[in-house]
Amino acid sequence: MVQQASANVPVSAALIPLGPRYKLAPVVQEVLATIDAVHTDGQLPTIPITSYSRGAGTSGNVSAGGYRATVDAQTGKATGSLSIELNSHEQAMRGVRNTLAHEIGHFLDHRAFGDVADLATRAGDPAFADWRATADASAHVQQLRTAARTGTIVRNGVRLRSIDVGYVRYLLQPHEVWARSYAQYVAEVSGNPAMLAEIARELSSARYPTQWAQADFAPIRAAIDTLFRSRGWRP
Ligand SMILES: [Zn+2]
Repeated sequence: MVQQASANVPVSAALIPLGPRYKLAPVVQEVLATIDAVHTDGQLPTIPITSYSRGAGTSGNVSAGGYRATVDAQTGKATGSLSIELNSHEQAMRGVRNTLAHEIGHFLDHRAFGDVADLATRAGDPAFADWRATADASAHVQQLRTAARTGTIVRNGVRLRSIDVGYVRYLLQPHEVWARSYAQYVAEVSGNPAMLAEIARELSSARYPTQWAQADFAPIRAAIDTLFRSRGWRP
């Protein structure tokens, strides 16, 4: 157990929320309060949350948001210019709470675990070994692996044909699996009804799978619990 002196800092202490005139301001406040009730983190650099509004492009896909970190080309280190962006367009609203938790998951992966040159999960940080093993063994990740290999997904009785294998590979990257698992962890541990509803909606959809059925997620939830406790982020 590594108990860090600064472990008891609320996650929201690092996040600069949207000002009150923004449409997503109440949602941001709600999600930050939810995360604060689940765990703390260490002393982290501040990061602003920003919003934009953009509907589906010609591909039909709607961007939900993003985590941005500027990296110095010489040293490979993050320069401190960080931001989380959220799409406030109505087409992106169905999963907006999980999107914010997801992007905060990327921020923690990047800045709360040692070397800031890369995301800890992508760099193979040993602190994530148990999380990685349980995630790899989950039916959700196995389904994506099969999809990447065969080019087909059967989801809730619907066969998705001509799937975008590049997108499936993107979903399989360790840091993306981490961010999705972090969002689900926050939803399940907090019991936030709106966040749980967003996950339930995703699970019942016939689109690319991005979340875990609750039983499938249980070992991953336990691994994240252990990871956060080892850092003193949860009692
Ligand atoms: Zn992501």
